[in-house]
Amino acid sequence: MTTRTQPRKVKAAVVNRHQHLSFQELQLKAPHQNEVGVKIVACGICHTDLGFLSEGSILGHEGAGIVEQVGSAVTAVKPGDHVLLSYQSCGQCAPCHDSQPFNCQHFSKLNFGFQRLDGSSAYPDGVQGHFFGQSAFANYCLVTEQNLVKIAPELPLEVLAPLGCGMQTGAGTVLNTLKVKAGESLMVMGTGAVGLAAVMAAKIAGAKTIIAVDRDPTRLALAIKLGATESINSDEENYLATLCPHLDYVIDTTGIGHLDELAQEVLKEGGTLVRLTGSCGETLTRGRKAISVVQGDSVAQDFLPKLVEYWQQGRFPVEQLITYYHFDDINRALKEAHNGKVIKPVLVWD
Ligand SMILES: [Zn+2]
Ligand SMILES: [Zn+2]
Repeated sequence: MTTRTQPRKVKAAVVNRHQHLSFQELQLKAPHQNEVGVKIVACGICHTDLGFLSEGSILGHEGAGIVEQVGSAVTAVKPGDHVLLSYQSCGQCAPCHDSQPFNCQHFSKLNFGFQRLDGSSAYPDGVQGHFFGQSAFANYCLVTEQNLVKIAPELPLEVLAPLGCGMQTGAGTVLNTLKVKAGESLMVMGTGAVGLAAVMAAKIAGAKTIIAVDRDPTRLALAIKLGATESINSDEENYLATLCPHLDYVIDTTGIGHLDELAQEVLKEGGTLVRLTGSCGETLTRGRKAISVVQGDSVAQDFLPKLVEYWQQGRFPVEQLITYYHFDDINRALKEAHNGKVIKPVLVWD
């Protein structure tokens, strides 16, 4: 089957030199043969977006939408299909062939390099697109089969959009990396979207003790509602005294420095600290380990359908974390994500 692909005018939120986003109409080149053009319906905002506010860039990497154009080599989807977007991988290197796209050798280039694998760009000069292989702060973007997941058309794209990054990372750490088993115990530091996804996943796994730590009482209350068995306010003076030792796992989503010491105190011998904050793995004392994880060791095409199923069963109620904004309010949404007013902002077009 031959498919004709075409350039397309798009409306995209471009970062200016004052880290302010403004919508511009741009001409995007036609999809390459391995690419898929997706009309974006919704896009979550993730904290990683806030770290890349450089002039000329188009961010957004929790997109969801409807396939509009497909390159001639694409077999996974056709126009009209509904898709969730996740991180990008090359599909060709050894880890990709070994079903570990989260360890793709080209991960940095493809997700943070604002370019395709071959170094080209579909965007006009001076505009940086292809963020996470998406740049979904727009009404249309180009992706590949590697970073899309087809879902049933009756599912709500605006609810499921944020599964593709933060939620996958938190839940995947519990279910894929640690493989938490029934009866085990863990502590989750920080109850943003990633931490709360870890809490929900720990409940799904049947963990006996799920301790949520944060300084925001509203978020701690939500953590309890979502499955935490205890909550600890880290602003309170007796905070350290209330921590119970001998936990199997600690998941740190905060990157706050003194946590390592704390992890040593509360982890059992042989227990594991997971840092979801970017630092590297190392050995703690007495056989305790510290590891870092990318995207919760998740293969999006396998894991997102599982999360969707949990959502359908009411066991992964992401809607309780979401605040919706029209795309026109993108600057307010980014600000409120940055200052912690909201947990998971999701931008929608209509
Ligand atoms: Zn690869
Ligand atoms: Zn993200």
